Amino acid sequence: MTTTRLDDVLASIDEGVATDLDGLFTLVRQPSISAQNVGVGDCAELVRDFMDDAGLETRLLETSGHPMVLGTWLEAGEDKPTILFYGHYDVQPPEPLDLWDSEPFEPTIRDGRIYARGVADNKAQFFSHLMAIRHWMRIVGELPVNVRFIAEGEEEVGSPHLDEVIAEHRDLLEADLVYTSDGPVQDVGYPQISFGVRGMLYIELRATGPNRDVHSGHWGGVAPNPAWMLVDALRTMRDHEGNITIDGFHENVSEPTPAARAAMDALPFDTAKMLSEVGLDGMTPPADLPWADRIMARPTLNIAGFTSGYGGPGSKTIIPSKATVKIDMRLVPDQTPNEIWDKVSAHVAKHAPNVEAVRLDGGMMPSYTPVEHPMAEIVRNAVERGFGARPIDVPLVGGSLPDAVWTRTLGKPSFLVPYGDPQQANHAPNESYAIERFHQGIRTSAILLAELASS
Ligand SMILES: [Zn+2]
Repeated sequence: MTTTRLDDVLASIDEGVATDLDGLFTLVRQPSISAQNVGVGDCAELVRDFMDDAGLETRLLETSGHPMVLGTWLEAGEDKPTILFYGHYDVQPPEPLDLWDSEPFEPTIRDGRIYARGVADNKAQFFSHLMAIRHWMRIVGELPVNVRFIAEGEEEVGSPHLDEVIAEHRDLLEADLVYTSDGPVQDVGYPQISFGVRGMLYIELRATGPNRDVHSGHWGGVAPNPAWMLVDALRTMRDHEGNITIDGFHENVSEPTPAARAAMDALPFDTAKMLSEVGLDGMTPPADLPWADRIMARPTLNIAGFTSGYGGPGSKTIIPSKATVKIDMRLVPDQTPNEIWDKVSAHVAKHAPNVEAVRLDGGMMPSYTPVEHPMAEIVRNAVERGFGARPIDVPLVGGSLPDAVWTRTLGKPSFLVPYGDPQQANHAPNESYAIERFHQGIRTSAILLAELASS
């Protein structure tokens, strides 16, 4: 019976692409630049109107920053699962404007793609879920499962209130799974499901020498050089084979499960091609480690910036008075930023007492949903039907997103299913989204609701 209803819904989606595109254009025309506080409140109201129109009960969850928009429909009953959709309605600043071929907030179609700021990241993607809900409601009069939908307005400035809103309104967000479509798929020709993200800790090491830069002849061999202090400190943190040697650093690194291991081994990544795109012909040591292990099974210790002394034209013979190095660490399950900060600061205090370690922010938790989670198969089937190809499982993505708010704070499985393609140019001028993927995305979300209902 569900199949018949789904067929009707899919037919309505196929016929309604133009109308759904109109709605998307209205949403994209409304600027919502969180970093500049431009139009965000108005966009929240607009998203709320679209949720209302789709048949959800709506409310705004105020924060000390921009509001979150919540939509709810729970009439499928307690024996049916509840899905929580997450998306963000804020966008990146459009600058530099002179590099755009059309107005950033006037969506323009060229060669089957919509060009506009925020269309791919994230408006067309979360709007696809909303349109799927709307078609279900209009054609069938109800949804096959319970639905909650949260759209936040601060993702592009680091989601500073997401965790507290979830902790505070847990009852409004209770669900069996969380489903997010954001970002592009990897450039391998398949849809993909990501099951987690790496976390991050960002620190700075600081060293101080003389109270001003001094003559490296008059003072050379006398004044301690803060740049060397940092080099010496860094040398205690990583060996020549690339192993991180911070005391206790790997204590909580968990091994991939057999299913995650199998998924990693099956990834159709062309390592040589990916390297050549950034002008590389090899990877950082150890040489024989596969790409997937580097991203999904190993934390990193990265020097993001090193500042000291003179770097201008010609030469200047000084011993600098200070030196700083910025370091980001990408964390894998089950490391946490607090635990790693404790270890790094203790390590520095012990091995480089003349260096000060400073934590620059709260960091981000890694997240992980098991590849073998029973709901994963439902998501795979929906994505396969919607996009016409079996998705690849990506156990962990290299970048960091606030996904742990779902897996840890809310304690639910979270599936990241990017609906975008690699050409979408997120955060850059001429951001775009393929109309075909908009259509496939709506179909996928509609199918997902049906598949969940029959699970
Ligand atoms: Zn973004």
